[in-house]
Amino acid sequence: MQGTTSRRIVILGGGFGGVFAAKQLQARAGSDVDIELISRNNFFVFQPLLSEVAGGSIQPADAVSPLRLFLPGVRVRVAEIRKVDFSAKTVHVTVGRGDEITTVPYDQLVIALGQIVDLSRTPGLSDRAFVMKDVMDAFRIRNHVLQCLEDADETTDPVRKSRLLTFVVIGGGFTGVEVIGEVQDLIGKSLKYYRNIRSDEIRIVLIQHGPGILPELPDHLAEYATDKLRRRGIEMLLNTGVNSASVSGVETDGGDTIDAETIIAAIGNAPSPLVRSLPIELDRGKIVVDRCFRVQGLDDVWALGDNAHIPLGEPGDPKVAYAPPLAQFAVREAKVLAQNVLAHLKGDTPKAFEYRSMGTMASLGARTGVADILGVKITGFFAWAAWRLFYLSLLPSVATRIRVAMDWLLDLVVSRSIAEIRATQAASRYIRFLAGDLVIEPGVDPGGLYVVISGAFDSEMPEADQSRTLGPNTCFGMAIGGEAGSDQERITAREDSTVYFVEKSDLERLAMVSALIKQGDGTKESARSDAKGKPDRDSPS
Ligand SMILES: Cc1cc2nc3c(=O)[nH]c(=O)nc-3n(C[C@H](O)[C@H](O)[C@H](O)COP(=O)(O)OP(=O)(O)OC[C@H]3O[C@@H](n4cnc5c(N)ncnc54)[C@H](O)[C@@H]3O)c2cc1C
Repeated sequence: MQGTTSRRIVILGGGFGGVFAAKQLQARAGSDVDIELISRNNFFVFQPLLSEVAGGSIQPADAVSPLRLFLPGVRVRVAEIRKVDFSAKTVHVTVGRGDEITTVPYDQLVIALGQIVDLSRTPGLSDRAFVMKDVMDAFRIRNHVLQCLEDADETTDPVRKSRLLTFVVIGGGFTGVEVIGEVQDLIGKSLKYYRNIRSDEIRIVLIQHGPGILPELPDHLAEYATDKLRRRGIEMLLNTGVNSASVSGVETDGGDTIDAETIIAAIGNAPSPLVRSLPIELDRGKIVVDRCFRVQGLDDVWALGDNAHIPLGEPGDPKVAYAPPLAQFAVREAKVLAQNVLAHLKGDTPKAFEYRSMGTMASLGARTGVADILGVKITGFFAWAAWRLFYLSLLPSVATRIRVAMDWLLDLVVSRSIAEIRATQAASRYIRFLAGDLVIEPGVDPGGLYVVISGAFDSEMPEADQSRTLGPNTCFGMAIGGEAGSDQERITAREDSTVYFVEKSDLERLAMVSALIKQGDGTKESARSDAKGKPDRDSPS
């Protein structure tokens, strides 16, 4: 490339923005530039297919593509990005489990770090809800739903059964609607295997803050989707917010509590902590760029995708729109960004990004959907098929396209698998209880140790005629070694309270480690006393 003085382009993030930018840069510049992509995982997650992973119609491995396979010729570094030093033009990363910092120099930097899910504004929600961001999130939801069916099929307690069979999705945007449609499909297709569960015992609830679902779609398509989902038995709580979540379920802003074992939060997009920590201007948590993707106030730094605030017109115009956080936008942005970075290297003028959305589509599960493609509105099977064809065409490699198409084809002709592969959940965790919640029942294994963080619990042992109140910094349940306390204790939350729950297997490990430490101390102690008894060889006598 003639006139190129700075040739090392470093891309941060292996999502839609980063991966498609790398692909475009490589296709346009070939070996004239060195391209390095740094990302946390060695694969690219195709997020629009996550709902289908949650519903079990797609295998988790088929919703991801290995970066090295998709980007031959691009240096892929799997690392956690910790810091960017814009004045030294370096990125600081850590690799694997190590704390060792590696410094990666750049000439041109492209930031495509996406967003995170932050549920911390709703008490209890981040500890209790499943999110939909990564492929393992979706796979966990699928397994959890199947586990609820397994447990509900066995239990003889009607209250527990009803909780196990209540599924709540919070958020009526594309993700919430698609995931609820898929989860309902999974449950519907699996019920024939569970003799003790009747279909009228299943309760699926969608909670949406606004007056309607899918607000991005024209009204009549949104109404069609609402009607379809309602006819399939999905309850819709519109104009409803969630005040808190606890071990029992969710509490709405109308004061109702929905007892549910499964809560899926399709809300809470927020800037990543790394983006927030950068010394650059942010608007609503997104990096401020001009229409050519140049980060304001910095040379040789560009941003695109969900982490960038990209104007679709002149920034001074009060009516200017900004690029929405969508994959179809990130892919288009990547193309123009690659042209602009290369033009900049040649000393040419970069061009402004312009893109009119091709339309919007949503799959509602059960082979139905809604679509608005270039102003043409489609509903039902054809919209669903258009959705699938569109995303199939966007998949990054032929191999992935074939695998996903095979998954879909098989789903049409054979039964969906109900194999419940346990994806481990953090064993020890915070749990929130609401006043009156039963925490430990007499005669039932408590499963671990409960350390009270806030609030209070009532402990009763009717047989011994004893009762006490347990406040912060006290604990109940099992002891460190995993031994159960009294099996006659009944514990209920006196008020809304939070505990840190240490699971039995962790307690056993803790006991083992503390025994080893004691042993070690003993050895050191005896070594010290041995040393005291003997004169030091080198000390003057
Ligand atoms: C469930 C779901 C369904 C969706 N469905 C659709 C849809 O149907 N249609 C549509 O157009 N859009 C859809 N979207 C939105 C679309 O996926 C996003 O707009 C798109 O992924 C944005 O791309 P990005 O590159 O900006 O961010 P991402 O794709 O999120 O990529 C960010 C990358 O940065 C990496 N990263 C972040 N921080 C670090 C760090 N510190 N160190 C190392 N790596 C890091 C991440 O691992 C990731 O690889 C959906 C999103 C979700 C979550």
